Amino acid sequence: MLPARRPSCLGGHISGKRYLSRQSRLVPGRSSVEREPIRATMPPESTTDTAVPHRPLGSAPSVAIVGGGPGGMFTAYELQRAAVRPLQITLYESSDRLGGKVRTMHFKSADVRYEAGAAEFYDYSHFGHDPLRELVEELGLPIRVLGGSAMVVDGAVISSTDDVRSCLGGHAEASLLAFDRLARDRMTPSEFYASGDDGHATAREPAAGFGATLETIDSALARRYVEHLIHSDLAAEPAQTNETYGLQNYLMNDPSYMRLYGIEGGNQRLMDELAARLACSVRTGCRVESIEAAPSGGFVLRHSPGADAAEDQHDLVVVALPHDQLCKVTFGGARLREAVDRHRSHHDHPAHYLRVSVLFDRPFWRESLSGSFWMLDRFGGCCMYDESSRDPSMTHGVLGWLLGGDAARELARATDDEIVHAVLGSLPGFLSAALAANHSATMEARVHRWIGAVSALPGGWTPMPLERRHCPDPVGHPGFFLAGDYLYDSTLNGVLDSAERVAEWIAADLAEGRLPRRQGEHHEGT
Ligand SMILES: Cc1cc2nc3c(=O)[nH]c(=O)nc-3n(C[C@H](O)[C@H](O)[C@H](O)COP(=O)(O)OP(=O)(O)OC[C@H]3O[C@@H](n4cnc5c(N)ncnc54)[C@H](O)[C@@H]3O)c2cc1C
Repeated sequence: MLPARRPSCLGGHISGKRYLSRQSRLVPGRSSVEREPIRATMPPESTTDTAVPHRPLGSAPSVAIVGGGPGGMFTAYELQRAAVRPLQITLYESSDRLGGKVRTMHFKSADVRYEAGAAEFYDYSHFGHDPLRELVEELGLPIRVLGGSAMVVDGAVISSTDDVRSCLGGHAEASLLAFDRLARDRMTPSEFYASGDDGHATAREPAAGFGATLETIDSALARRYVEHLIHSDLAAEPAQTNETYGLQNYLMNDPSYMRLYGIEGGNQRLMDELAARLACSVRTGCRVESIEAAPSGGFVLRHSPGADAAEDQHDLVVVALPHDQLCKVTFGGARLREAVDRHRSHHDHPAHYLRVSVLFDRPFWRESLSGSFWMLDRFGGCCMYDESSRDPSMTHGVLGWLLGGDAARELARATDDEIVHAVLGSLPGFLSAALAANHSATMEARVHRWIGAVSALPGGWTPMPLERRHCPDPVGHPGFFLAGDYLYDSTLNGVLDSAERVAEWIAADLAEGRLPRRQGEHHEGT
């Protein structure tokens, strides 16, 4: 039920995307070898597929991990933790830094930081097992709880049901309350926590579109309110997603469903601490161009360090790239190519972000708006962050705009100056007035375009079984794995889960003294 004064979903907001399940994971501390090897859990691709022969294992099998973002780093870390025998792990990263879309940057005109990519971490620890939170704790990283409860609509701040009534009218309030009840009836907090579990009903059925659910909101003002509230979480248009995901993105604004935190000193510290603990060969500035099965077994990776292309051979490969980067790698051999093409087209539902961070000489908005973020009814609904609230010692102010979906994609075509002009023009009247009254100056602005970089979950789409998501050709190429947030819900929690699954499967196979069957033993097309 909604509280009388301060609504949870109606006024709260969290940004970015949420993770769909924690319960499908192994219990921490449980040996990875207790899990079935992947091939034992996979249905055969066709009736002509034959059983996979086991091969004896060499002294230290080699694993290539492609992509040095969270997906690749988590996979490497989990693999080195889960492996019960020596492994040679090589992590390939095309850029000169590890961390991918988790990126804390600094302005030039003052030593002030801002998040250019992933904004916050999602906390499920109040339900029980929360691997990301546990990892953050294990790495000794202090966290800062983030929160916000305001939505700015037509220049007025709404942070309670009373505000809804006075700003949008009694009909809109009643309509929102009815929608809020519907959402809670359809999904309890524990169902929310379990909803990505493979065994859960929503995990394997085509989900209805969220558009029809939104149509049940009979007040146009209330409907718009909900659409704006969840727009930047979805990174897509609300009607383009499925009902489950739409409701989840609404409900996650309630702390009994999910909570938020950031890392003190910047989210990138998670990646830096992890990098310091990786016991593997890390090759930055090394773009993997192609992957194919080697005739002698294993896989050949061709990569381009600078101008000189080179190649390496590995027993196993984990491709930890976001779905929009997969198409830039050539997969050799018809069977592998087709398997990856099928996988890509199944998951090809691009969603978009545009992030603009503006440095001011002081946080001129604090008298009007508090909290780490609030929502704004511009750009189809966007999130505004008080980035400077993450560091209480900061005297400067940093405002961040996170635009999602069509608005992000459209505006991203403009120049940086035009984009900055557009977001400053979106400030509600009371904030523009505060800016002028405080004689506050804009010192610097940064624009980061993340077009197609995250994944939407459309209505009518059936998620693949978890095993098939991670191993697209289990019979022909059982040593070829994919890990990514797009296999779940485009969050860090999701990519950690994906990485853990792959690491555990590999570790379980290797613990039994075998490699997944080598490609060289099997003719293509069988
Ligand atoms: C604006 C924005 C806000 C977000 N907010 C949140 C949030 O609040 N909470 C949350 O949980 N998640 C959030 N996310 C999602 C989160 O950032 C992703 O879940 C996470 O970064 C996915 O990790 P990844 O390793 O799969 O991909 P990436 O982070 O994209 O990393 C992939 C890496 O692979 C490298 N690479 C690409 N091609 C090659 C190649 N051919 N060879 C070698 N290396 C290659 C890239 O350089 C990159 O380093 C946000 C994302 C964006 C864009």
